[in-house]
Amino acid sequence: MPELLTDEQQQLATRARRFADDVLAAVDPADTSARSRVIDAAKEAGLFTLSQPVSHGGIGASILDLVVARDALMSRNPPLASAVFGPGPGVLSGCSDELVQAYLAPLLAGEKRGGFAFTEPDDAPHHTKAVRDGDVYRVTGAKSYVTGGGNADFLNTLVEIEGEGKAMLVIDTGSTGVQIARRFASLDGSQHAGFTFDNVAVPVSHRLGDVGAGLKRAMGQIGDTRLLIAADCVGLARWVADYCGEHLRAPHRSGKNLGDREGVRLRFGEMRADIYTARAALYRAARHAVSGSNAVNEVSIAKYQATEMIARVVDKAIQLVGGNALITEHPLARLYQSVRSWRLAEGASDVLLLNIARGALDLDKGTL
Ligand SMILES: Cc1cc2nc3c(=O)[nH]c(=O)nc-3n(C[C@H](O)[C@H](O)[C@H](O)COP(=O)(O)OP(=O)(O)OC[C@H]3O[C@@H](n4cnc5c(N)ncnc54)[C@H](O)[C@@H]3O)c2cc1C
Repeated sequence: MPELLTDEQQQLATRARRFADDVLAAVDPADTSARSRVIDAAKEAGLFTLSQPVSHGGIGASILDLVVARDALMSRNPPLASAVFGPGPGVLSGCSDELVQAYLAPLLAGEKRGGFAFTEPDDAPHHTKAVRDGDVYRVTGAKSYVTGGGNADFLNTLVEIEGEGKAMLVIDTGSTGVQIARRFASLDGSQHAGFTFDNVAVPVSHRLGDVGAGLKRAMGQIGDTRLLIAADCVGLARWVADYCGEHLRAPHRSGKNLGDREGVRLRFGEMRADIYTARAALYRAARHAVSGSNAVNEVSIAKYQATEMIARVVDKAIQLVGGNALITEHPLARLYQSVRSWRLAEGASDVLLLNIARGALDLDKGTL
């Protein structure tokens, strides 16, 4: 629970909130140099390196610590929040020395960018596949939705190795046969690319872990990302509740504060109950994850609850604040646009629910 944090975790939350108030609140997101200044300040504040391994000069924080920091930071709904936390190792965690030198170290230093290539296009009849040819795999196929793919130096790519099983391969985007099929932006403003692979030669040494462990490795990465998305949702939802609380206490043209009306209070009460439930689920799932026990089901529940909750909460807040909240620059209008993607990205809500049911019915997994 968010109340049962260690002293260090409480200090981390305070640090993240202060960073939002003192540094981020003062930046102009339209200023193109702001991002690099925020990164420098976040490094100094010990936030940028939180998710990075100690072996690479990072702090090596646990997923619970990261949840604490993101929940706290997002509770201020600051601009440029995406610049505060540096890239973690993700699926490159525990990779070979060769891959550390070529990809992981430059990634953590901010010198190279990676993408996560998992989702396949609907019109592709087969999975992206790889055939072994001596010291290389020859990869053919397509990936349709790689966040940051347009600027990525490499892609952590899930492939089907013919006759063997799924594996993650690190594919350099400069390799012959790698093509960007399209570049596009999504409603939340993030940038993506679709790729095709035409007989791309990928060294066998670029395989992450054993064949057959590819999906598990990818899902491990997705699990952490799901918790971080859920943390962003509950943090933002707390900002929305604060914003609405102030609005409901403020004078209204009717002569009576909106917050004095019972119907309005019911909606506000629903909002707070919704946030409390999702936040409690998030911290419980994060504790499962750090305990080392299988937390796939708990993390799926936390992601499902938090992403559905933020959609309801923002929608309700707009209804309570009224037409002003729909002016395009209004923070609630911006949130309405930005939170939508989370119910699809990193596991669509229905797919998560099916996995949760499968965990209980078929695998005897998952706690309540
Ligand atoms: C902002 C954003 C960033 C993304 N970034 C990445 C990225 O970096 N890398 C990457 O690989 N992908 C990325 N994706 C893609 C994302 O993983 C997919 O959008 C998501 O997995 C859903 O797949 P889909 O879009 O193909 O929809 P579909 O799989 O076609 O699903 C559409 C709907 O169909 C229903 N459905 C689907 N399957 C089932 C089922 N088995 N049973 C019942 N109902 C089902 C659900 O209602 C679902 O919402 C990103 C997506 C977004 C929106």
